Amino acid sequence: MTLQIPASMLPSDGRFGSGPSKVRTGQVEALVAAGDPARPVLGTSHRQAPVKDLVHRVRSGLTELFDLPAGYEVALGNGGSTAFWEVATASLVRQRAQHAVFGEFGAKFAAATARAPFLADPEVVEAAPGTVAHLTPSDAVDVYATPHNETSTGAVAPVRRPGGPDQLLLTDATSGAGALPVDLHETDVYYFGPQKAFAADGGLWLALCSPAAVERAREVESSGDGRWVPEFLSLTTALENSRQDQTLNTPAVGTLVMLADQVEWLLEHGGLDWSVRRCERSAQVLYGWAAATPWATPFVADPAERSPVVGTIDLDPSVDAGAVVGVLRDHGILDVFPYRKLGRNQLRVGMFPAVDPDDVAALTECITYVVDRLG
Ligand SMILES: *Cc1c(COP(=O)(O)O)cnc(C)c1O
Repeated sequence: MTLQIPASMLPSDGRFGSGPSKVRTGQVEALVAAGDPARPVLGTSHRQAPVKDLVHRVRSGLTELFDLPAGYEVALGNGGSTAFWEVATASLVRQRAQHAVFGEFGAKFAAATARAPFLADPEVVEAAPGTVAHLTPSDAVDVYATPHNETSTGAVAPVRRPGGPDQLLLTDATSGAGALPVDLHETDVYYFGPQKAFAADGGLWLALCSPAAVERAREVESSGDGRWVPEFLSLTTALENSRQDQTLNTPAVGTLVMLADQVEWLLEHGGLDWSVRRCERSAQVLYGWAAATPWATPFVADPAERSPVVGTIDLDPSVDAGAVVGVLRDHGILDVFPYRKLGRNQLRVGMFPAVDPDDVAALTECITYVVDRLG
């Protein structure tokens, strides 16, 4: 007999992935509407009004959601956050960057600037997974870079400038944007993809850029320092296109539809403050359950560093997390496995704004039910 979780215990929606994450039904309905032959957006030119209107909705919606400071601009392009690391390497770092590395995603950006033949080796401030590495003031760098939310470990870092006026802070907010509080005055680039808190598909990068970042890109790209900035990696080119509500090359229109719908859904409910509170409610449920459960321990030891959007819970060695994940999957509860390279006996739970806090509560009850019966 395989283990059966009673249907009445199951969450109403079993998607708890950390990216791609749960897509709301309303977003799928928006997609269907965008495919209506009477008023089609899907399957039409991205250089014409219907798709440009969509990009406009995304850009103006993000401006409102993040209370964009004067002079900041919303840029977007193809390739996801991974592409943005290369954009930043090519267009924003003059000579040397400093990276905070406390998980896989921070490490990947550090590797990108380390590989660039035209840059000096980066400074890397490293901390063990489950903790946070803090950027430190340095006269030897012109860019600082840190994840806001390290999705691979579930640790969250403050967004705060460590340096002086001629240094930029680039914040990888791929999984934090739209779910964590932020004051954009404290960073020069706040970049993310649509597939985490914005509940859409991957493939785009979005970057909220300060005037200093816009100016830095112009300076670096025209400096004639011998570097080759491919057009695809030019932030200046992306900004020029974004100002016209376009991307350099063809975007996934369906992703834009779902992204615009999610941004407007957040705004309708009360904006970023509402989203932050909703994610915090989910996180209280998850971490509260872990505190009350003898075989579950939050991986991030310092409560102040625990992510309210990506919760990582270590299980006692006597409990096989892989087996728990398997039983949950059989019941439609998906993607609560840990980040693959972390290699821990762990569950990782995406608690983005699309996820109902009541579903997080149901999930915790299902986990307990399964562990009690796995023996
Ligand atoms: C998911 C993620 C990325 C990678 O995003 P892609 O769009 O797949 O390139 C980068 N950084 C963080 C913090 C992430 O969570």
